Parts: sequence; C-alpha cells; structure tokens
Amino acid sequence: MATDTSQAAARVVVVGAGPVGLFLAGELRLGGADVVVLERLRTPTTESRASTLHARTVELFDCRGLLDALGDPPREPRGHFGGVPMDLTMPGPYSGQWKVPQTRTEELLQDWATALGADIRRGWEVRELSPHDGREDGHVEITADTPDGVRRLRAAYVVACDGEDSTVRRLTGAAFPGAPAGRELLRADIAGIDIPNRRFERREHGLAIAARMPGGVTRVMVHVFGRPARRRTGPPAFTEVLDAWRQVTGEDLGAGRPVWLNAFGDANQQLERYRHGRVLFAGDAAHRQMPSGGQALNLGLQDAANLGWKLAAVARGRSPQGLLDTYDDERREVGRRVLANIRAQALLLLGGPEVEAARTLLAELIAAGPARDHLAAMITGLDVRYPTGGGAHPLLGARLPLSALPTPDGLVEVAMSLRDGRGLLIVSDSARAELRWLGKVWSDRVTSVAVRPDAAEPLHGAEGLLVRPDGHVAWAGSDPWAATAAFRHWFGRPDPGL
Ligand SMILES: Cc1cc2nc3c(=O)[nH]c(=O)nc-3n(C[C@H](O)[C@H](O)[C@H](O)COP(=O)(O)OP(=O)(O)OC[C@H]3O[C@@H](n4cnc5c(N)ncnc54)[C@H](O)[C@@H]3O)c2cc1C
Repeated sequence: MATDTSQAAARVVVVGAGPVGLFLAGELRLGGADVVVLERLRTPTTESRASTLHARTVELFDCRGLLDALGDPPREPRGHFGGVPMDLTMPGPYSGQWKVPQTRTEELLQDWATALGADIRRGWEVRELSPHDGREDGHVEITADTPDGVRRLRAAYVVACDGEDSTVRRLTGAAFPGAPAGRELLRADIAGIDIPNRRFERREHGLAIAARMPGGVTRVMVHVFGRPARRRTGPPAFTEVLDAWRQVTGEDLGAGRPVWLNAFGDANQQLERYRHGRVLFAGDAAHRQMPSGGQALNLGLQDAANLGWKLAAVARGRSPQGLLDTYDDERREVGRRVLANIRAQALLLLGGPEVEAARTLLAELIAAGPARDHLAAMITGLDVRYPTGGGAHPLLGARLPLSALPTPDGLVEVAMSLRDGRGLLIVSDSARAELRWLGKVWSDRVTSVAVRPDAAEPLHGAEGLLVRPDGHVAWAGSDPWAATAAFRHWFGRPDPGL
C-alpha cells in the first residue's frame, strides 16, 4: 500500500468532521495551511445534539462572516446554573443563547470550510497513527479504512477532533484523568404527546424537564435521585425513559413515539496535555463533560479558534513550534475552569434533597447581582483572558469587544477587520511612526487600522493594540520595542522581502 506524501510538508490532517473539526479546518485554511479532514461517517449525522451557541462563539462566527448564513435564530436570555434559573444577558451585540440545532451549525461550517478549500473525505475511519518526530522531516503517518480499502497518508501535524471516545487519544495513549460518570440524565425526543413544559422541576423522587420543540416533538429529560449512571453501549430503551418519567412525575408517556433517545452522564475528564508533539487535541477529544448549559460545544469551537491560526503559521514555517505550546497552556486552563463549573452544576442539578440548601443560597447570590455577572461571563465565554506576560492595560489578554473603530475615513468594524483570519494592529492616527511602521513590516499577516486621535477611546489610553486572529489582545501600549517582541512572538519573523 502506497503512502500519499504529496504536499505532506505543510499538510494538517484533522480527524473528525464534527463541529470542532470543521471550524478548525476553515481556520487552518484561512491561515494558508493545506488541510485534509478525515471523517468516518459517510454522511453528516442527523442526531439532534447541542442547540445553543453562546455569545463568544457568535462573536467568533461574526469575525468569520458566518452570521448571515445563520439567519435570525431565536435567542433565549434565560439560562441556568445547575438548574438554578439565571439571566445570561451580557453587554455586547450577541447577548443571550442563540438556539441553533447542532446539525445546522455543522452544515454551515462544512460549507464554509469547503468553500475555503478544505478537503473533507467522508467514509475515512482512522485506525492507526505513527508519529515521527525527526527534526528535519518530522511527520505523522495515518492509516484509515476508506470506501476504497485501506489508505495511508502523511501529514506534518494531526489534530484529533474525533469526539469524546477519541480513537486518536487511545492510539497515542494520552493520559485522560478525571471522574467517570456517576449519575446521568435520560433524554428522549417524543412525538405525539401533550404535556406541560417543565424547566428543571425538582420533585420528591427526581428531576424532570420537558420542552415542546418546533415540529410538535417534546424533549424530556429525567433523573431519578440517587440512581447511578449505567454502563452503556448504546442509547437507553424507550421503556427505561418511560419508567423513570413515571417514577418522578406520575405521568405515562407510553402513547408517544420516540424520535431520538440518549443518556448523558456527569463524567468529567480532561487531557493532561493538549499537545503531544505533532498530534494535538481539540473539542470533546480533549475534554469530556456533561453538556450543561450548552458549554461543551462552545468550549470546543473556541479551542478551534485558538488553535487554527497558530497551527497554520507553524505548518507554513512562519512560526516556531513553540507557538503550539501556547494553545496547550491557554486552552487547557480555560477547559479546567469550565469543567470545574460543570462539575459544580452536576452536583446541584442531579443531587437530591441534600443539595436544596446550597441551591437556595446560590439563587440568593444570583439575585444579588455580582454573582450572576460572574457566572454569566463564564458560561458565555466572554470572560476568557489569556496570559500575555506583563502590562496592566485593561484589555490585555481579553477579547477585543466588537465595536466600530472611528478612522479618518469613517467607521471600521472590528469583526470585519478580522474576517480574513489575520491579526489586527490598531493605532492612534497620532501614534509614533515606529508603531505604524511595525504594521507595514508584518503587513502580510496583520491588518493595520489607524483610529482618529480625538476618538481613540477603543485604545483605552494606549497608542496601539495588537490583536490576534482569534480576537484576543496580545499587546497594548506605546513602547515600540515591546510591540516588536509581541509581533515576533505571535506572528513569527517578518518576511525578509518586506
Ligand atoms: C448524544 C449526544 C448528545 C449531546 N447533547 C448535547 C447538548 O444537549 N448540549 C450540548 O452543549 N452538547 C451536547 N452534546 C455535546 C456536543 O454535541 C459536543 O460537545 C460536540 O459535538 C463536540 O464536537 P466535536 O467536534 O468535538 O466532537 P463530535 O461532534 O463528537 O465529532 C467527532 C467526529 O469525529 C468522527 N470520528 C470519530 N472517530 C473517528 C475516526 N477514528 N476516524 C474518523 N472520524 C472519526 C465522528 O464520526 C464525529 O463526526 C451531545 C453529544 C452527544 C454525543
């Protein structure tokens, strides 16, 4: 069997065409990498899964021009923390939960990545991986079962986006510590029933949730207090859901027809490292968590936004491999924090009468204000701040709010300026010449925008801001030497031809 080595030097293979793999593929293409996505399913899944996009993910989609295609989905400001109701309204244009079925998100991302030139191969199931870490010719060899038999191909880097039961994780033997599922929620989409909607209704014997969805199907979720999670190799039987529902609510849903059955537990595991040499992990392959409050999908999509531009720069030889370690540092810490809040939510949600006092106290804290603001910022992903090494500027490490920048030629939208996946240098029109010159030196990978000195509010007192392609502020200040170091660190050495 021959190995396909064509263009292997700059090629990135993404394993898995779920939402994270598809978003990553598009990001890699924007950064100029050659991308092949291998997906074992021959056609996209029709399974109803996550239905929520949070504000930070919607901002990222805006920065890639994906919002028009998303249309005008319903927005729901009401969220919860472990079943304790909470308003998720946040400052900014994309407040609230955007209700978009995961199938639609995947379709959108697949169209986008394909249009950008990603090569998505369906029916390819990866089953072997051999990393070769040679200094000069480092690569990874991948073996997959395909519709045309076993195929082998070579890549400079592999990213595992192959979901919670990741094959790549198993093949690399990556340590995945944490807790397996102790409790679980049974879930069923049922046609032909008419029951009242229930938001986290806690009854004597358990928790019941019911929501009528468009199309006349009702989604029910149920947990019997104290009942441990079962070892499962497939979805629960409909009778199991019916029995649990009857036990908790006294209602019989037997006249209904199950459209989709599913059980999800409170497992909480995270890779010790997201980077193993030339193999990286993103999305559910890197972290397994209960999908509480829709955070699982959003966490993974934001992994992709952090990794794509860095890996493209490294694969193209523009940046040293060390840039990939910043992905591991930054996203593992964000993941650790999100998994911790999900663990806390699982306790509050699935715990029995013993958690009532903690729930009451939390409800009081949420009503008081600052606790709500803190939790809403965390759940929406708007509070993520990456370490940048020094400096006290209020935006350092944070995402740049999506405002319109006042320039001598009119308003320039931040989201529009990030659309092509490049970095962004924002300087005051009166900034020292050296700062503006840096924008010229890195002009092949950074867009420069000069704002009017009389309207330099977006700079918060700095002469310039350097923004990464994922929208996070990497440098803010006035010192050209510090700015040069930040340019080099995040964007590599400038092209000598410029
Ligand atoms: C049944 C279910 C219900 C869920 N419900 C919710 C919810 O209500 N709310 C919420 O926020 N989240 C929910 N989630 C979680 C959410 O769907 C995930 O967080 C999200 O899909 C993660 O995206 P991903 O791309 O990392 O992984 P996935 O979406 O799992 O995609 C992984 C892809 O890799 C492919 N793959 C796997 N192995 C291989 C291989 N060896 N070779 C090639 N391809 C491979 C798979 O076919 C799949 O397409 C649910 C998940 C599941 C499984």
